[in-house]
Amino acid sequence: MVEKSKWIRLPRSVVVGHGVLAQTADVVSNSHLTGQPLVVTSPTPKKVAGDRVVEELSLIGPEPETVVVEEATFAAIEMVLERAQRVDPGYLVGVGGGKAIDIAKMAAEDRSLGFVSVPTAASHDGIVSGRGSVPEGDTRHSVAADPPLAVIADTDVLADAPWRLTTAGCADIISNYTAVQDWKLAHRLQNVEYSRYSGALSQMTAEMLVENSDSIKQGLEESAWIVVKALVSSGVAMSIAGSSRPASGAEHLFSHQLDRLAPGTALHGHQVGVGSIITAYLQGGDREDWVDVRNALEGIGAPTTAAELGIDEETVIEALTTAHEIRDRYTILGDGISEDAAREAAAVTGVI
Ligand SMILES: [Zn+2]
Repeated sequence: MVEKSKWIRLPRSVVVGHGVLAQTADVVSNSHLTGQPLVVTSPTPKKVAGDRVVEELSLIGPEPETVVVEEATFAAIEMVLERAQRVDPGYLVGVGGGKAIDIAKMAAEDRSLGFVSVPTAASHDGIVSGRGSVPEGDTRHSVAADPPLAVIADTDVLADAPWRLTTAGCADIISNYTAVQDWKLAHRLQNVEYSRYSGALSQMTAEMLVENSDSIKQGLEESAWIVVKALVSSGVAMSIAGSSRPASGAEHLFSHQLDRLAPGTALHGHQVGVGSIITAYLQGGDREDWVDVRNALEGIGAPTTAAELGIDEETVIEALTTAHEIRDRYTILGDGISEDAAREAAAVTGVI
């Protein structure tokens, strides 16, 4: 008798392309979302897409309620939850580069409502996944929520986002290489459940992005197309795994630690990219492995050094030696690496 069971939750619709914001009402109807929408957005995303979304949604139902959040903080989530309490929306819509989407996702989870993700920048894979976290004091508040019911990614809007956000999205995808290696390691050493489908999809996503990196150039709408498709694919890998494992290893722990030590300094994707160079080095293998990761990042114009992140060397070393404490996730960092080892890894790879 087979006693296994598994529940894979995926977005119902993923609509990507030029001008697809115009299909917002269709996508929402198709997802069987009804009632008053609560649109969560940030100041700039509101201008570039949020107002359009509100306009589109008023065509098919009650006038949407909009809440503008400035930062991804615990206070912002509370504010959105309060508003949701008052408005009693039928569903939520997150319009933004990640912050607003993460907050909409968490509020939707709290209220047991569906949500729609409308990314205005292809900056990280949270735009299509059910995973999100915001800093809360000295720790992070994380959720493993349902993925969005629908994703509406308008490449016309995404291509207009600041270029560094796109290179951050690329770096987040490139980091899948080391995340998958760490996942396999955790499987071998700690019997953590590993999904070959999910691991292969995650790794292939990174490979395809690197192969197409010649077409990833500022001002090319094609770049947004390539990157957002990769982010979707990475999100699907996480859905299949039922965890963020396929896209989050030691390089992500390092980045979360930098968020605590040097908050707001560098973008998530850029931090995990640099973390991925060091992680690849620590994972051993051939010298080619970490050099490949570094070259891939360099090729798309993402940071490869602490200086380019705007973070000082000592902070990088502290993040490396303490990253294993941030959550119960086995990676190449094991129970922690020594300061000497951290210094050596960062120096050999040219990060410091
Ligand atoms: Zn990430």
